[in-house]
Amino acid sequence: MTKTALIAGITGQDGYYLSELLLSKGYRVLGLVPPERQSSVVKLGALANQVEIYAVDLTDSEALKEVVEQRHPDEIYNLAAPSFVPDSWNDPLGTLDLVTGTATRLLATVREVGLETRFYQASSSEMFGQVDRSPQDENTPFRPKNPYAAAKLHAHWTMVHHRQRYGLFACSGILYNHESPRRSPSFVTRKVSMAAASIKLGLSEVLEMGNLDAKRDWGYASDHVEAMWRMLQADVPEEYVIGTGKLHTVRELVAAAFDCVGLDWQRYVVVNPKFLRADEHFQLVADPLKAKRQLGWEPQVSFEQLVEKMVLHDLECLQTNLQNC
Ligand code: NAP
Repeated sequence: MTKTALIAGITGQDGYYLSELLLSKGYRVLGLVPPERQSSVVKLGALANQVEIYAVDLTDSEALKEVVEQRHPDEIYNLAAPSFVPDSWNDPLGTLDLVTGTATRLLATVREVGLETRFYQASSSEMFGQVDRSPQDENTPFRPKNPYAAAKLHAHWTMVHHRQRYGLFACSGILYNHESPRRSPSFVTRKVSMAAASIKLGLSEVLEMGNLDAKRDWGYASDHVEAMWRMLQADVPEEYVIGTGKLHTVRELVAAAFDCVGLDWQRYVVVNPKFLRADEHFQLVADPLKAKRQLGWEPQVSFEQLVEKMVLHDLECLQTNLQNC
């Protein structure tokens, strides 16, 4: 029987890869996009014709309920969030409202409609915040350091409480950074891949960076959405830490990106103190052993392959002047 999945945040990076994955598995895919963000649907490219978009305000409980009652989704994925962490300092309340409010409303809807719908909450490694151990696993204490992380933690616990109190099949993936050619240019990986491509094509000359020693656990978005899906196919709903378990420095990122276009990064990269973030994480890196053991999940794409995918994509975009690069 054809399964139906409902995705909030379908127009984002993960929404794209998750839709692609679910469609390849024969799912009917529905997406919730607020009326004022309909222009984002263009980011789905050709997939937009294969999914059904509902123009629904995520703060409107009745409208959410109507969609769920009408379409009886087997699975709901809550991916909606303003995902660029520094932005959450500019609008802490808006971040909390969207992140926690959407999770709470969707969970309440599933409970009220009384369906067997399985629920996925997009949690974040940012919830670990000020870590005192590396790597982190499902038992690591949460010490969020920014409004985004605090909002994500609230949504995470709301999901846990709904599971414990009402017996919902609700899971969350505590995901580390995952990137792709669909990552917003606000993020360092895409900033670097775009710059390497642009300098190669003679469109720019210099890349200004912050701390080159900062380290991240960077995975590929397509691998990480596979983990989301696997969580909802498990026998028991649980939390899972999802990451590569490997740290790379920004310097390694820059070197790999420029290597893809045959350039020596040291000739083009300058450190600008303006981009130094005061609040760098130290050793925020996943221990994804539980996901490997229980879900059989492992990343398939290496750091070098990920960087290459991004740079080649950006080269093509810039050469062909494509919109939606
Ligand atoms: P993304 O590309 O930024 O996509 C976020 C989605 O949320 C988009 O559909 C976006 O709509 C929507 N959204 C943002 N602000 C909104 C608002 N005010 N009202 C309604 N919708 C709004 O993020 P992603 O990389 O796909 O991440 C998916 C989820 O995983 C997010 O919840 C993120 O916080 C979480 N996460 C991501 C990572 C990562 O490294 N990517 C790591 C851990 C957790 P528009 O397309 O219109 O902007």
